[in-house]
Amino acid sequence: HFSASWSEEQIRNASEGHALLTWSPSKAVESMPVMVRGDGIYLYDTTGKEWMDWTSQAVCTNVGQTVSPRVKEAINAQMDKYSFVYGGLALTEPRARLSKLMSELMPTGLSGFVFPSSGSEANEAAIAMARRFTGKTKILTWYRSYHGGTSASSSATGDYRRLMAVEAPGFVKVWNPQPQFWEFGGSSEEERTASSLLMLEEQILNEGPHDIASLMFESVPGSAGVMKLPPGYMQGVRALCDKYEILLHMDEVMVGFGRTGKMWGFQHYEGVVPDIVTAAKGLTGSIMPLSMTAVSDDMKAFFHDNALGWGSTFQAHPTALACGYANMLDMLEQDTIGHVERLAPVFEQHVKELARHPCVKQYRSTGLFGCLDVQTVGGEQPQFTHQPKTSASLAYAKAAADQGLLTFFRPPVIHIAPPLIITEGELEKGFAKQHAALDALDEALGF
Ligand code: PLP
Repeated sequence: HFSASWSEEQIRNASEGHALLTWSPSKAVESMPVMVRGDGIYLYDTTGKEWMDWTSQAVCTNVGQTVSPRVKEAINAQMDKYSFVYGGLALTEPRARLSKLMSELMPTGLSGFVFPSSGSEANEAAIAMARRFTGKTKILTWYRSYHGGTSASSSATGDYRRLMAVEAPGFVKVWNPQPQFWEFGGSSEEERTASSLLMLEEQILNEGPHDIASLMFESVPGSAGVMKLPPGYMQGVRALCDKYEILLHMDEVMVGFGRTGKMWGFQHYEGVVPDIVTAAKGLTGSIMPLSMTAVSDDMKAFFHDNALGWGSTFQAHPTALACGYANMLDMLEQDTIGHVERLAPVFEQHVKELARHPCVKQYRSTGLFGCLDVQTVGGEQPQFTHQPKTSASLAYAKAAADQGLLTFFRPPVIHIAPPLIITEGELEKGFAKQHAALDALDEALGF
């Protein structure tokens, strides 16, 4: 049950010889477990050790590691029919089914769909569509944001990950309503909303509304640290978009499909309907690579008569679409999102209790998505993510591994994002492990 077809030594030798990582120095492969089996929220390595998935991998294995009979059947049935049909040449049943279902899951007014393979690609498509549709160039995005690793999506990304990117033209960064290192805009949430919107409007005016195609924001900034927006902020953003004829693009790649206890993160902002929505990860539970760019009725009508002039071979890949459709039926039938909504207060209480660790400066939580900001004794950020790992980061990683907790610390934040199918009992087990790992971090930071 726990063995792979290759011996552990064969796997390690080949991986250490050839496998490169992208977010960290590749020597990290030497200390990684070799996974051979998954079950629900758990993974098992070659030694039989059980690892609890505390991050849903890259916040994407929302339905856990067990592939449902319906999803397996959908994938196999599709493979039995044909190998691949290119989306630009013919119609397929999986595209018809998934796009119809998605139009039902979207608010009225969003009814046209492109289905690329990754979140980055969905954003590339969205950016191209916004520019083509409006005839305008600039895309405004937040500093505290992550939108992907392709050329346009990494240029849209605002945070440190862009260090190595040569930025594509046409992207302008604006301030989030929550800057990272200082308090902004007044003492109350209402004041903060008002000042943030005034500043955004001034940026729009300075950039020239006639040049701005879209405002592209994560509905709930995820990688940047599970940030809740001050009340009324997104409604104000929508109003500015309407006033200046700018498209509102919500990036739902990380939080779409239920992470925050609602189907879409933007549903936390009453009355806000975007013009463009991008999503990925949870669409197939990451069983197969698939993403989605949803656009408004007006944009759909425009592209009915005009070519976008952007493509991807695997756009509307039939097997991935069949997988996504079956996964959506599972999630709807099992009311996975209702489950997240019901567990959210229990989860938040657990996250709140983590704040008793002195290394935790503050916490945030929504749905089954939590985040801790870690601090030093002097209240500073302990390490910047792109810097070499400190002894404290290594001590935390070791303690988490000793607990069998699959998590990572991207200073200053620790994300907590278990698969959405986690039970209340499993949450309790996971948070006990999280406490133990934070005890080690407290000690390593000298508290
Ligand atoms: N947008 C957001 C909000 C994300 O969190 C991510 C990935 O984490 C992406 C886009 C990029 O998605 P992908 O890695 O599938 O290209």
